[in-house]
Amino acid sequence: MMSDITTLGQLKSTGYIAKTIKEEMRHNLIKYLKSGTDLFPGIIGFEQSVIPQLQNAILAGHDTILLGERGQAKSRLLRQLTYLLDENLPFIDGCQINDDPLDPICHQCQQKAALEGNDLKISWLNREERFVEKLATPDVSVSDLIGEIDPIKIAEGRHLSDLSAIHFGMIPRAHRSIFCINELPDLSERIQVSLFNLLQERDIQIKGYRIRLPLDVYIVATANPEDYTNRGRIITPLKDRYGAQIRTHYPKTIAEEMDIAIQESSSPAIINKSVLIPKFMRDIIGNITHLARRNPEINQRSGVSLRLTIANYEVMVAQAFRRGTKQEGISAPRISDLPYLLPATTGKLEFETVEDDRELPIVKGIIDRAVVNTYSDISENHVFEKLVSIFDEGDYTLDTGEDIEDFCYIQLIDKVPGLRSELVKLSETDEPACLISALEFILEGLHLTKKLNKHQKDGHNTYSN
Ligand SMILES: [Zn+2]
Repeated sequence: MMSDITTLGQLKSTGYIAKTIKEEMRHNLIKYLKSGTDLFPGIIGFEQSVIPQLQNAILAGHDTILLGERGQAKSRLLRQLTYLLDENLPFIDGCQINDDPLDPICHQCQQKAALEGNDLKISWLNREERFVEKLATPDVSVSDLIGEIDPIKIAEGRHLSDLSAIHFGMIPRAHRSIFCINELPDLSERIQVSLFNLLQERDIQIKGYRIRLPLDVYIVATANPEDYTNRGRIITPLKDRYGAQIRTHYPKTIAEEMDIAIQESSSPAIINKSVLIPKFMRDIIGNITHLARRNPEINQRSGVSLRLTIANYEVMVAQAFRRGTKQEGISAPRISDLPYLLPATTGKLEFETVEDDRELPIVKGIIDRAVVNTYSDISENHVFEKLVSIFDEGDYTLDTGEDIEDFCYIQLIDKVPGLRSELVKLSETDEPACLISALEFILEGLHLTKKLNKHQKDGHNTYSN
């Protein structure tokens, strides 16, 4: 085990060669590419777009910025870059900035190395510890990022060129690591200048003093494309420094959207176990988000996050579960559960309108449209006509809603020849809860395509001719 090694002498005897972080990442990437290892497990929808570009940036040794609206898994993707680091990295024990045992850059370690020679103590850093992340906000200061002078040490008589008088900020502490700045344009111009000096000139300036500090950091960042392109939001030299500007995007299909949402959703096992979700209900959730992303009444510059899809999915599962606790067996979400999505959806969207009372109608309109879109994917047939004709003949009505007993639905299913097998086909199971869910879906589809009427009152929907 490499990590059993505790001195410089032992380390040297293994033939250890220091690499820069970019060399290390490139080396591991090439190894993984050749062996066909999945480098970004769990990242869905970027296989043909973002991931190959990111790999090229790493091969080329380019600092990288991901441009995309909120909730496009940018930070998550960048966090997974740690897979490209060696599992464990040796550094000089006790060093604030993880100095390379063969090539220390801090004054203290240089002295220690000269003094102790092969006895110099080594510690190991796991790759998970080599990802340093900072959300840029206007109040981030130079001392947060770069460092500050420790007045006590100066008072003790140490000179500034002695780096031990400096309390290092996040970036020097990210020496030999990946440093990720989220929402880069939110950094003040002054901070951007210090950041650039650190990256390009390899020195830091604190209170007018220039101190040489040849850090080795792989810098990645994220930004909203609008903020990034706006003149003045990012200083030009910093912009030029990013070798790769990669545009991320939302999932292109409903299926990808839902694969990610289901993977990311955190519904507890006890809930997931007793809830079955028919595909059409999943598609409605995905459609809601995709429609919101095209709606002119919703602010598209900040975007409509995948987190909307995840939250709606979790709420839908929770509602189906809660309703189902009143009876035995499996529960399945239904159309009459959808009003429960309103708070989650309204809260996660930024509206263009200034009138608060417009928000709910906009979201209700989107949900209806999502049901219509999903319904248009299934093909109506003569069974649907027979179902409508039951309502036409003899003033039949059906109430749906949380407190309507299952047998009311089943009675209708049994009245229409061929309907049960149609519902089984649609919900891909003969689980009664799913058949009832499929029935509500068809009734709502027939209503929204103007073949049935619906009245809403006191939490009930009444379908009629
Ligand atoms: Zn050091």
